[in-house]
Amino acid sequence: PDWEKRIKASAKVRSRNGISVLVTGAAGFVGTHVSVALKRRGDGVLGLDNFNEYYDPSLKRARQALLERTGVHVVEGDINDATLLKKLFDIVPFSHVMHLAAQAGVRYAMENPGSYVHSNIAGLVNVLEICKSVNPQPAIVWASSSSVYGLNTKVPFSEKDRTDQPASLYAATKKAGEEIAHTYNHIYGLSLTGLRFFTVYGPWGRPDMAYFFFTRDILKGKSIPIFEAANHGTVARDFTYIDDIVKGCLAALDTAEKSTGSGGKKKDPAQLRVFNLGNTSPVPVSDLVSILERLLKVKAKRLVMKLPRNGDVQFTHANISSAHKELGYKPTTDLQTGLKKFVRWYLNYYGNGKKSAQ
Ligand code: NAD
Repeated sequence: PDWEKRIKASAKVRSRNGISVLVTGAAGFVGTHVSVALKRRGDGVLGLDNFNEYYDPSLKRARQALLERTGVHVVEGDINDATLLKKLFDIVPFSHVMHLAAQAGVRYAMENPGSYVHSNIAGLVNVLEICKSVNPQPAIVWASSSSVYGLNTKVPFSEKDRTDQPASLYAATKKAGEEIAHTYNHIYGLSLTGLRFFTVYGPWGRPDMAYFFFTRDILKGKSIPIFEAANHGTVARDFTYIDDIVKGCLAALDTAEKSTGSGGKKKDPAQLRVFNLGNTSPVPVSDLVSILERLLKVKAKRLVMKLPRNGDVQFTHANISSAHKELGYKPTTDLQTGLKKFVRWYLNYYGNGKKSAQ
């Protein structure tokens, strides 16, 4: 088929530096930005995405068009398709896998729990199975989540803090992913780096996330639900701009050691790392709305509500000293600056807000 030819072609032009990366979830928000950044610096990149309809598929198609213009081909397929993965590895001996495909979002788990098990557990295992079976084994960087800290209220969260109280099925599957990674590292000597992203936002973002649908609803004159915790406490998030996350992802990839392939027994143990990638400055959701009001020049209709027990936690705040030390990670974009870029993209993409997001 056509895509096989295109993959072979992109494998050939591969790579100033011998790096070739399979990016799963490439048509997703983070996947698009990471793929573009890898391609621009000269790495070989191939995307994989199943283009599911969790949110507006036309946005994923538009990201795909951007990727194709940048020279990144995205194969349409599911990470659970072992035959497809085998085929991709037969064509390109990937040096790295950037595994970002997942069922994201905490609330949707109440409607479709099976999709979380399918993508975040079975899909992850399938990706690790192919990685363990090829020679040489690729180093893997994968997306975990700040949600693993769950109901832990000791902030800022650092990597050694407890993660045994997930507040949603999403969080539980992300936590399970970390345990599964540990097993594959231990038994098969796979090199694995997990990144706990904290509320990532920016251009080409996800319509199911608050900053995105707040923007849409403020422009439409619809009311914005602002949750306060049962104890009247502030609900705040450590919003992290996409360009900072991308830098963290690339640094994780660049510092990943090769797999030992030995189950860590014969030689040194293979690398297993987990890092927080956040912004270290939580902002109350009501302040997020105020910034959007200023940028959009429209007053929001605020509807203050109690935080329901639907998977959202009250507060997130990353301690990033470990990522700083090991990856040189240093976020540089504050929420005001990042949202300005998001709003500019939003108005441009949706035709100055006349055409609106779904
Ligand atoms: P996203 O939904 O935009 O991207 C995920 C992509 O994976 C989508 O394009 C989807 O079509 C694809 N996908 C899902 N299941 C698949 C499957 N079974 N096979 C193939 N493709 C599949 O989400 P995102 O915000 O870009 O998140 C990327 C990763 O980062 C995810 O693992 C997510 O859990 C994690 N994460 C994101 C955030 C955030 O704030 N955006 C925070 C913490 C963790």
